[in-house]
Amino acid sequence: KTFKELGVIDSLCQACESLGYKAPTAIQAEAIPLALTGRDLIGLAETGSGKTAAFALPILQSLMDAPQAFFGLVLAPTRELAYQISKSFESLGSTINVRTTVIVGGMDMVPQSIALGKKPHIIVATPGRLLDHLENTKGFSLRGLKYLVMDEADRLLDMDFGPLLDRILRVLPKERRTFLFSATLSSKVESLQRASLSNPLRVSV
Ligand code: AMP
Repeated sequence: KTFKELGVIDSLCQACESLGYKAPTAIQAEAIPLALTGRDLIGLAETGSGKTAAFALPILQSLMDAPQAFFGLVLAPTRELAYQISKSFESLGSTINVRTTVIVGGMDMVPQSIALGKKPHIIVATPGRLLDHLENTKGFSLRGLKYLVMDEADRLLDMDFGPLLDRILRVLPKERRTFLFSATLSSKVESLQRASLSNPLRVSV
């Protein structure tokens, strides 16, 4: 199948093409059509499977329908992964002028607050620093959030981010879509799933 046959709009298909993506990967072929129907998803996939585009493309497509600030939040276990995900959003979204910011620890808060003040569409964050901004950055709220992604959920939980995830989930709107990606489905991941997804579909590769 082609990206177009999965339901991806032309401008995003073009972005895939210019990135050299000739055909969807297995996780993309499974996840994208389901994500585009508006369902919550659990994706069991490893890094390298193309999982980032599997969640980024449906989010970008939905963003184009109704662009707004703080449309999507991606939570990742490490800074490196956060930067990588943000780069993917920017390259896949290059044809639609998506604005993304990375909010991770170990960096000054102030430039991050300024970046949040510019109302990006997509935030890619590690949990601790995101909470710090939710509590301390004036005017920053995720009450209008439409999409939450928890990437590498098993690693997020192994790194003891569970309590922070619970605190973040408490301030997110209930009427949102949620995608959870994980390499493994442990009992901890399953309880996070129950706490954060509604009637999800499961895809795995
Ligand atoms: P990920 O698993 O999301 O970290 O992606 C792993 C690598 O595969 C990244 O370098 C992506 O740019 C690349 N990639 C993602 N989707 C495709 C595709 N459909 N065709 C070729 N490469 C891809």
